[in-house]
Amino acid sequence: MSDTQTKTAATTTGAETGAATVRWGDRDVPVIQSRDVVVIGGGSAGAACGIRCAREGLSTLVVDRYSLLGGSTSNALVCPMMPTYVDHLQILNEVEQRLGADGTPTRDDYTTMIWFAPEQLGMVMEDMLYEAGGEALYDATLVGVVRDGATGAITHAVLAVVEGIVAVAARLFVDASGDAALARAAGVPCDSGDDEGVNQVSSLRFTMGGVDVERYRDYVLSLDDHFSPLVDGYFFESAMVAGRDFKLEPIFRRGVEAGILREEDLRYYQTFSIPGKPSCLALNCPHVASMRSNATAAARSAALREAHGTIRRLARFLHEMMPGFEHAYVMQVAPLIGIRESWRVRGSYILTEDDYARQARFPDGVVKGDWYIDVHSNKKGLFHRNTYQHGDYYEIPWRSMVCDEVPNLAVAGRCISTTFLMQASVRIIPTVIDMGDVAGSACATSLRTGVALNALDGSQLRRFA
Ligand SMILES: Cc1cc2nc3c(=O)[nH]c(=O)nc-3n(C[C@H](O)[C@H](O)[C@H](O)COP(=O)(O)OP(=O)(O)OC[C@H]3O[C@@H](n4cnc5c(N)ncnc54)[C@H](O)[C@@H]3O)c2cc1C
Repeated sequence: MSDTQTKTAATTTGAETGAATVRWGDRDVPVIQSRDVVVIGGGSAGAACGIRCAREGLSTLVVDRYSLLGGSTSNALVCPMMPTYVDHLQILNEVEQRLGADGTPTRDDYTTMIWFAPEQLGMVMEDMLYEAGGEALYDATLVGVVRDGATGAITHAVLAVVEGIVAVAARLFVDASGDAALARAAGVPCDSGDDEGVNQVSSLRFTMGGVDVERYRDYVLSLDDHFSPLVDGYFFESAMVAGRDFKLEPIFRRGVEAGILREEDLRYYQTFSIPGKPSCLALNCPHVASMRSNATAAARSAALREAHGTIRRLARFLHEMMPGFEHAYVMQVAPLIGIRESWRVRGSYILTEDDYARQARFPDGVVKGDWYIDVHSNKKGLFHRNTYQHGDYYEIPWRSMVCDEVPNLAVAGRCISTTFLMQASVRIIPTVIDMGDVAGSACATSLRTGVALNALDGSQLRRFA
C-alpha cells in the first residue's frame, strides 16, 4: 500500500458521477461496482456488519483478500468463541443457532464458550449475507483509497483483483480488516503494538486428526490437571505454558530431552475440540515470540517460516510421546498467521484499560465487553488482568468506532480505537461480531438521516438499556 497514492485526493469521484473510471494517483482505475456500503474485511466483524447492512436494505459488498468469510477463524483456524457473560446482539445469537442447526453441539456443560469448526463460522455468515441480499468480493485486496478532496470522505476503495487494479465506489465504508488497512490507506492516524511498537505474540495455528481425544483427556486428568473444567462431555481443552506449573510440562520437557522439541517450543501449547470432528483437535500454537513487530510482510514471512518448523516438531512430539496421539497426523496448517493485535485506529475516543477497571458506561455505549485483558506478551509471556465477576462489563462507545478525519468511515473488530492493553479485551470473537452488527445499523441510520457516521448520536445506536 503506497502512502503517496493512498493519500492522494480524488479530482473526480466515481461515486457521484457514475464515472467508469476514477483517478487514483497517476492512473485511471476502472470502477467495477457501486454500493451503499463497502466493508473491507470479511472476518467476524466485517461479515456481521455486511449482514446487518444488507438486512437494513442497503446494497452491500464485503471485500476480502481470502476465499471465505470468517477472517481469523477461517484462515488462522481460530476457534472457539471465548466465554462472555453479557447480553449479545441479534446476529451473534442467530449465528450460534445456525451453527447448531444440524445438531452439531455448540455449547459445553461448563462454560459459555461457543464452539465451532474453523470453516463453519464463515460458511454460516456467508449464507446469512447472501440471504439478506449482500455479496462478497473474494480474492480482492485493498491497496488504496480515493478520497473527496473537499469533504475528506472516502469515495472508492482500490483493490488488487485477478483482472488487475480496480475500484469499488460506495457512500459509506467500514474498516473491518483487523489491520486497519482501510483507515491507514485513508491517512487516519493508527497505532501498532505497545509504547515500543511491540505487538502481542502471534501464533500459527494448526489442526490434527486421528486423535483419541478420550484417551488424551484421561491422561491429562490422570496428572491431576485442573486447567480445564471440561472433565467430561463432547468438548475438551488443554494447555501447557512453560514455567507456570502446568501438569503437562514434564512430558514436554521429556520431549526436549529426547531431542524432538526445542526449549522455545514449550512457550505455549493449547488444544481445543472441534465440533462435528470428534477425533480432531485445534491447536492454538505455536507462539512466534521472535516476531516483536508484525508490521511488515517480511516479519510475518519470517515468523511463518519459523512456525512451520515448530509445528513439525510439535506434531512429531505429540505423535511419538503424548497418549492419545499415537495415530494422529497434521490435518491443516493455517494459511494465515494468527495476528492477535496489529494496528488500531486512533478514533474519536480511545478506550483504555482504565475504562476496563471502572467498568465504564458511556451515553453512546453500543457493545458490552467482559473478556479480561488477555495479552500474549512478547516481553512477559502472558499478561492477564482479570477483575470481573460474571455480570460485570464495560461498554464500547460508538466514538471508538469512528474517527474525526473521515466522515463516512466506521471501524469494527479488533482494530477499533483502544489502547494496546484494552485491545486485548475487546478482540474476542463474540465482541467483534457485536461491533459489526452495530456498525451495520449505524450505516443504515447514517444513510437514512444524512448524518455522517462520525457525527451520529451514538446513544441512538444503543440496543440495550
Ligand atoms: C492465535 C489467535 C487465537 C485466538 N483465540 C481466540 C479464541 O480462542 N476465541 C476468541 O473468541 N478469540 C480468539 N482470538 C481473537 C479473535 O480470533 C480475533 O480477534 C477476531 O477473530 C478478529 O476478528 P476481526 O473480524 O476483527 O478480524 P479478522 O478476523 O482478522 O478479519 C479481518 C479480515 O480482513 C481481511 N483483510 C485484511 N486486510 C485486507 C485487505 N488489505 N484487503 C482485503 N481484505 C483484508 C482479512 O483477510 C480478514 O478476513 C484469537 C486470535 C488469534 C490471532
